Order: sequence, then structure tokens, then C-alpha cells
Amino acid sequence: MSEQPTITGNIIEDTTIAAGAPWSRVINKDEMMRIVDLEGKQAVDFLCWNAQDHEDRYAAADTMKINKTGIFLTTGTTLYSVGLTPLLTIVADSCGFHDTIGGCCSADLNKFRYDVDNQTGCRENFLSEIDKYGMGKRDMSANVNFFMYVPVAENGDMDMGPSISKPGDYVDLRAESDVLAVISNCPQINNPVNDFNPTPVQVTVWNPA
Ligand SMILES: [Zn+2]
Repeated sequence: MSEQPTITGNIIEDTTIAAGAPWSRVINKDEMMRIVDLEGKQAVDFLCWNAQDHEDRYAAADTMKINKTGIFLTTGTTLYSVGLTPLLTIVADSCGFHDTIGGCCSADLNKFRYDVDNQTGCRENFLSEIDKYGMGKRDMSANVNFFMYVPVAENGDMDMGPSISKPGDYVDLRAESDVLAVISNCPQINNPVNDFNPTPVQVTVWNPA
């Protein structure tokens, strides 16, 4: 069980995201965001955009190249956009490993990989959430998977789980610009990324000033 540090400042939002549910909000520059994996072993799929310019979306490859922390995101990693706008910086992290190469699940992938019909995935969650901002499929990009561990072996094999995060593991992010942040609390039940048991997560947004 990880204990989270006390938040100081004005809390703007404190929400429990149900297992499998989406969430979004604009986080203004210098505001903070904490995501807590309440029960552990829960993948939190995440996308972000420059809130002033939705064409300036998260750039997974550039984020990995610029930060020089390999394929994992952790404390000190800044998430960049395709226009190299710094969007968010991870300022604290009790888990240590966050993925940005594994992509997200989708109804199409669930059919293709597991032969199950009409099972909503993170892609559908993302699309339903960004629709509120007038965005759609053309605005999607490769995403972050907080609390998801995707190591790559010497021969190039990817290991998509099982998850290693502990109950109470948290990640704190500082907004480096005005950011539209979107979460899909992954509903996947066909593989071990959520330990076959999707669970709620907590998201808190605050102004530290
Ligand atoms: Zn998912």
C-alpha cells in the first residue's frame, strides 16, 4: 500500500472514476493533477492536447526521444506535443513505470484478438469524451498508459502485463501549459493489464498556489 503525500493548495476537482469509465477536463498551466491507482494493477489510459490548439496533440515518440528515459515515463518526464509544447511533467511517481508504446484497447481489437462482440474499449471511451470538445477520430494519437508495465526484451518481444502497480500507487503531474486531459480507466477484461479485474481510480486536480 502506497501512501500519497498530502495535497496543499486549493482542490479544484476530486473524482473517483469508476472501473471502465472515461473522464476529462482542462487543466490550466501550473495546476496539478494526481491519479491514484486505488486498488492496484489498474491501467489508466491517458491522452492530452494543447487546450489552446487541439491539433497540437500528445506525441509519444517525441516524448520518449526528448526525455532519454527509454520507453518508460516516470518522475522528471515531460509529456510533449507534436509541436513540442511541454504539456505535463511527472513530478512524483510511486510506481516507477508508465507505458507509452502499448496503445489502447478498442472494440475492434477485442473482436480481432479475443473474438468478443461489442465490448467497449479505451478507444471508444476516448472518442466519447473528446466528442464533448468537438473532436473525433482524426484528433486521436498514441496514448500514455499510466500504471501499465510494458517491458521490451532484447529480441524485441513486448510483454503486455501483468500489471505491477500497488494499491495506492500515485502519479503527480504539473501542467506546463493549458492542457485538455482525457482518461479512459481501462475496461479490458480479456488480458492481464488490469489483472482481469478493472477497478476505480481517483483523480484530483488542484492549484498549488
Ligand atoms: Zn483499455
